[in-house]
This record gives sequence, structure tokens and C-alpha cells, in this order.
Amino acid sequence: MDPALTAEARSLLASVRATLKELAEEGVEQFDRTSDDAIGLPPRRDAPALPESDRELAQSHPREKAQALEAVRLELGECTRCPLCKGRDQIVFGDGNPEAALMFIGEGPGQEEDRRGLPFVGRAGELLTRMIEHGLEIPRSEVYICNIVKCRPPKNRTPQPDEVAACRPFLDGQIDAVRPRTIVTLGRPATSLLLGRDVSITRVRGTWHEYRGIPLMPTFHPAYLLRQYTPENRRVVWDDLKAALARSRQ
Ligand code: SF4
Repeated sequence: MDPALTAEARSLLASVRATLKELAEEGVEQFDRTSDDAIGLPPRRDAPALPESDRELAQSHPREKAQALEAVRLELGECTRCPLCKGRDQIVFGDGNPEAALMFIGEGPGQEEDRRGLPFVGRAGELLTRMIEHGLEIPRSEVYICNIVKCRPPKNRTPQPDEVAACRPFLDGQIDAVRPRTIVTLGRPATSLLLGRDVSITRVRGTWHEYRGIPLMPTFHPAYLLRQYTPENRRVVWDDLKAALARSRQ
């Protein structure tokens, strides 16, 4: 190879490494289609811009929330605290902005989530992402999404009480780290856990509650919505999400 070219390639590589290091120090952990502006590119047309009020919130505790969240993840480690560890491929900790104003909490990872290590990336997750990005018009990467349990229950069964109890401190740790302005619980198990009683999601959805001092809005799980994709169900979930977004911006 031409030595001049090799030197140029090395110089370019060093420059890229330096830029990546700077971004990492600023808390940028990954690049996706909604974080183009982090590397100086204009946002793509299909990536909704973050409203000013959310930007202010994100800048109010720079890095502290990300560090607190990272501490929770470190504490979790390669967890074997409950039997769900035996069937998992990967721990699915959470996804999104540590400084999010809006936090979504579901029940547990499914097959696709277990495979990819990310929450809500299967069919139900795609619907949730569409509702966030095309309905609420905020990038998915600007909310925070996680589950009650971080390991996939066998055959997607409901997590057992001992499994929920073992994993709950880490969910609480995530909530305390992010301190969102509003929590949205997706489906009955997540709602029942955070409300401290067994609830009917049909009855409680659309009504305001509180968890650890944070306003909480229950709504249907997107998997339920996929099964019962009626105009009425879509309308009520849409109403719930709009109410949650509005509260998160107050
Ligand atoms: Fe640990 Fe939670 Fe996974 Fe159980 S579900 S093994 S408590 S991370």
C-alpha cells in the first residue's frame, strides 16, 4: 500500500477515535437514527425533534442520571437472583434516554427482546415505537423503556411473585435514577405491581395514579392492542399516551 495513504488512513482513524472518545465523555453511548445531531448531522426527516421543555429537563442533571442508571446496571451484573436467569439469552435492562421525561414500563422481555437485549423490539415493540414516534412525535430514544423483570420468562408466561420481588429493586433503581416526570405502565402486570394491588387494566387505564411520587398513567399493553386492534382500543390508548405526554411537559 502507498505509505502516504497508510499515514492518511492512520490520521483519519486517530481523528475518529478522538471524536468518539469526546462523545463518550459527553455521555453519548450509541448512535442511532435519532442521534445524528450528536455527530453534527441534521436530524433525518422521520426523526421528530425533541421539544424545548424536554431539552431543558434533559440538561437539568447532566450525566448524573446516566451514571445513576449505570450504577444500577452494574449492581445487577450477570444476575442469578431468580430462576428466570436459567432461560435467558441476555439480560434486557432498559433502553432510551436516562434523562427522559416519559418512562414506559412493561411486564418482561419476549423472544426478540431476549435475542437482541433490548426491550420492546418485537411486534408489540414496533407498535409502541410507532405510537411514540408517529403518534406522540418524539424520538423513541428520548423516552426510557424497561420491564418489571429483566429476563425472559419461559414461553412468555407471567413472572412469578418471587421473580418479580427479586427484580423489583432494580426497577425501582431505574425509576429513581431517571426520575421521569410521568410513568406509563403497559398492561395489567406492570400496573398491578406499581399500584400495589391486583387491578383490572380496563378499569384503571386512563386514570391518574402515583408511584414513588411520580404521576403514573396505566394503559393497555401494545401486545393486547395487536390482538384487539379495534378503533375503540386504539382511541383509548392514544388518549392515555397524549395525557401522559402532556403531564410530562407540565
Ligand atoms: Fe435477576 Fe431480574 Fe433476571 Fe431474575 S429476572 S435473574 S432478578 S435480572
